[in-house]
Amino acid sequence: MASISQLIRNLLDRPGSANISPFQRVATQAGAHEDRLKELDELPPPRMGDLPEFCAIAREAARRTLDERPFDVQLVGALALLSGQVAEMATGEGKTLSGAIAAAGHALRGRRVHVISVNDYLARRDAEWMGPLYEALGVSVGWISQSSTPEERREAYAKNVMYASVSEIGFDVLRDRIATSADDLIVPEPEVALIDEADSVLVDEARVPLVLAGAADPGLDSAETAELVRRLSRGYHYELDDQGLNVFLTAKGTDAVERALGGINLYETPEVLTQVNLALHAHALLTRDVDYLVRDGRIQLVNQSRGRVATLQRWPDGLQAAVEAKEALPASETGEILDSITIQGLIRRYPEICGMTGTAVAVEDQLREFYGLKVAVIPPNRPNVRVDEPDRVFGAVVDMRMALVDEIARVHETGRPILIGTLDVSESERLADDLRREGLECVVLNAKNDAEEAAIIAQAGQKGTITVSTQMAGRGTDIRLGEGVAELGGLYVIGAGRHASSRLDDQLRGRAGRQGDPGGSVFYVSLEDDLITQYAPHESLPPADDETGVVRSKRAGYIVGHAQRVAEGTHLEIHRNTWRYTRLLETQRAQVLEQRDKVLRGEAGGDALAAARPQRWEELGAEVGDAVLREAARQIVLFHLDRCWTEHLGFMSDIREGIHLRGLGHKLKPIDEFHREGVAAYKQLLEEVERRSIETFETATITADGLDSEESGLKRPTATWTYLVQDNPFGSAFDRALKNLVTPRSKRRQSLDD
Ligand code: ADP
Repeated sequence: MASISQLIRNLLDRPGSANISPFQRVATQAGAHEDRLKELDELPPPRMGDLPEFCAIAREAARRTLDERPFDVQLVGALALLSGQVAEMATGEGKTLSGAIAAAGHALRGRRVHVISVNDYLARRDAEWMGPLYEALGVSVGWISQSSTPEERREAYAKNVMYASVSEIGFDVLRDRIATSADDLIVPEPEVALIDEADSVLVDEARVPLVLAGAADPGLDSAETAELVRRLSRGYHYELDDQGLNVFLTAKGTDAVERALGGINLYETPEVLTQVNLALHAHALLTRDVDYLVRDGRIQLVNQSRGRVATLQRWPDGLQAAVEAKEALPASETGEILDSITIQGLIRRYPEICGMTGTAVAVEDQLREFYGLKVAVIPPNRPNVRVDEPDRVFGAVVDMRMALVDEIARVHETGRPILIGTLDVSESERLADDLRREGLECVVLNAKNDAEEAAIIAQAGQKGTITVSTQMAGRGTDIRLGEGVAELGGLYVIGAGRHASSRLDDQLRGRAGRQGDPGGSVFYVSLEDDLITQYAPHESLPPADDETGVVRSKRAGYIVGHAQRVAEGTHLEIHRNTWRYTRLLETQRAQVLEQRDKVLRGEAGGDALAAARPQRWEELGAEVGDAVLREAARQIVLFHLDRCWTEHLGFMSDIREGIHLRGLGHKLKPIDEFHREGVAAYKQLLEEVERRSIETFETATITADGLDSEESGLKRPTATWTYLVQDNPFGSAFDRALKNLVTPRSKRRQSLDD
């Protein structure tokens, strides 16, 4: 019966926030079973119809196997996950254990669970760590990593619960997509996704496409274009917009480029225009050691939200080539995109989604809008006593850096451990140099391997340590306080600059004060930071208070917060717009795959060809036998289905990139135009598959040995590979168009129209 106070609590609930009191009741009821279960030699098998008993059995199993008795709040978290919500639990609250209890619960309800981990290292660590608990509950568990063989993968996917990074699952899904025999398939039907660091996967990385590419002819040489844009000057030939997100040629720049290329008209040669734009983009907007590193003769991207090297990632082909050309590196392999799926599309395949993270409330709206998910805010086991100080703001970045080093020196003297989070790799290295110059020894964490980072960050709570780290290095690793550190105030976290998202700031702060530990945090900010210059460029800045350059005015704090909100709003808008476009493609993709499955596992291909060309079907059948003929038909239709899909993807990306240009003269909104053309093209796609399949069938070489694919003109790519496109942080040409930027072309149009 709902009490009045409950009703009021429900009314006060933030929209989208879940009410956790039913879960709290279940957790309390679980306590009543505890003493009885402790006495038993063997635990009874859990029944999911009785949640308090399930929780009690899981708790007792964890106590026996892991020597950790889950706190009530951990059970509450697990129950939120079992009801398909995102549980917000602070760092150090024990999400790994909560997640495992929930995964076991889903599995005991008869569903296959994929626990999506932050990286390969954590997938394996968590699966092995939680292994004994699963075993005690009668649930099988497995994991995969980048180096798993197809056999190992198939075995892991067959378990009740499987741990893996999002990219490994995505790549498996993509590779399955071109399987030509049902025996080669690896990934079973998706059922439940339980996502660790849910905000980072579901929001920050949602737009990232996972790509399956096949060998094709190498692209254009970009070296010449790189050389050409290197000679252009900013402010004369090209301009950046206020936020430094976009670059465009001025009329003078356009003329200069056209002259340098032998008097062509850029706007009549779109391939050249694109290449110039990409080169300019690489030249003016991407900075070595901030956006990417050059290592071993290769470009390595830096993931901005994690501040570390993004392995296996690249920019979209054109931009990748442009940056390689800028750094005078040999062009890396380019290929044809056979298929691609965004992380959001990948996750939405699961009929049931749940997740956990320390920072969910700030993205509550997105989680609801894009995934229909609610956030359950789980209180900490022990109250958080970390002292978060207000930002220390400086006018100039040099003053900020000096004050930062002084602060580190002052606190280090007391022996208190300090963890400094920087915004990028080069800033980490700069700060480490500054510190060493002052005789302060520090450990620098950046862009190494996950296991190594985990081991280093685990030591960051020891007395006298100074750890400099890019923001998210060593994520998922516990920082325990060393001997005597609590007396000194616990771990002291200093942010060197605020992030474009307050969630990332909160994640950094969260490294201190875990499980009721003492701790402190503060951010050092300068009004020259990119965040301010890009997102609050028109604010009048208050002056410094004294010769240290510190700005104490309240307004300074307001400007920093304002810039951050603008940045967050910009990213949300980009996410929303991208989804409007990718959604159509994801729907079409799902439909095509459904057809493909009928061909791959069933007889749809043979049936269609037999119906279309009955005479040839009969003749061939008499010659080679029904089974051989059916297999040949399968291969013919699969080939054309895959080929046409690849072409469709290329076509769709062309209209998406080009639509804003054409949109200028049209009455339809770009998104509507995109949909109209996309739907029409898709209709043709299915007809085209049929047409080409019949055509091949009429002339194909089919003998008792089967279909001769080469002879029949059905050559699949010689090699395929997978990668993650790190979304261009500045948005594609298309994103820029969405932000209604004035391009030289529209300027020209206007002047012509005037
Ligand atoms: P989170 O991912 O929420 O930051 P972890 O799952 O890494 O937290 O757990 C943090 C630490 O707390 C780990 O060392 C884990 O062993 C410990 N821990 C978790 N739950 C319990 C518990 N119920 N009792 C004792 N220790 C626990």
